[in-house]
Amino acid sequence: MTLLKIENLHINYGHVHALKGVSLEVGEGEIVTLLGANGAGKTTTLRAISGLLKAVKGDVLFNGDSLKTVKAHDRVELGISQSPEGRRVFSTLTVHENLSLGAYSRRKKDWNVVEKTRRFVYDLFPRLEERKNQTAGTLSGGEQQMLAIGRALMAKPKLMLLDEPSLGLAPLLVQNIFKTIREINKQGVTILLVEQNARAALKVASRGYVLETGNCVLSGSADDLLADEAVRKAYLGEK
Ligand code: ATP
Repeated sequence: MTLLKIENLHINYGHVHALKGVSLEVGEGEIVTLLGANGAGKTTTLRAISGLLKAVKGDVLFNGDSLKTVKAHDRVELGISQSPEGRRVFSTLTVHENLSLGAYSRRKKDWNVVEKTRRFVYDLFPRLEERKNQTAGTLSGGEQQMLAIGRALMAKPKLMLLDEPSLGLAPLLVQNIFKTIREINKQGVTILLVEQNARAALKVASRGYVLETGNCVLSGSADDLLADEAVRKAYLGEK
């Protein structure tokens, strides 16, 4: 079943046409990756799905329903949660408080469920539990990244939008993050993953789309994209 469908999406920033008719689909339970060079429109696509940007043309459908009139906070309620690039944690709040804020959007709050989700996050990232009373601003880059993902999970999303989760992490932590993405997916969360690390993203994803200057120029199974000569040259560092 299709969980997310983007149809002919156009997004402008003033005179900059950031998306020029992007279409893509994510099926329930899938991990799908969005590849592309800097400025291709990956973050813009995620922000349009979250409702942070308004489309000039085209539509985003979730569970078959148009999100055109659905505000960003109501999209979280529907089950769409974004872990933003650059970590954007609340630096003066503790790890524990940051996680609580992630659950804030849930209108019918059941504290048992909130605590269960927090348990799940701490089991995924034991480092966060060790640091639960530490303010987020004093965490390392990798720990802040874990916290951003953990906070997005606290909303109990059906669809998680991950923007560059491995950015700036040491190689060992990068491996861990991809393992965690698989783990989150196994718990039934569908994932749309934006990554510069195309090889790792294609290993964890079942399918992918390639964006170039606001257009979707290629799509296919992860295996097909890994074998594609243009993808290998442009994104996998091969000559
Ligand atoms: P990166 O990997 O570098 O983050 P990206 O694929 O996520 O790239 P976007 O951030 O979606 O790319 O940007 C798409 C285009 O829109 C770029 O040309 C960018 O310069 C432009 N853009 C993004 N945000 C703004 C903004 N706030 N104002 C004007 N132009 C913007």
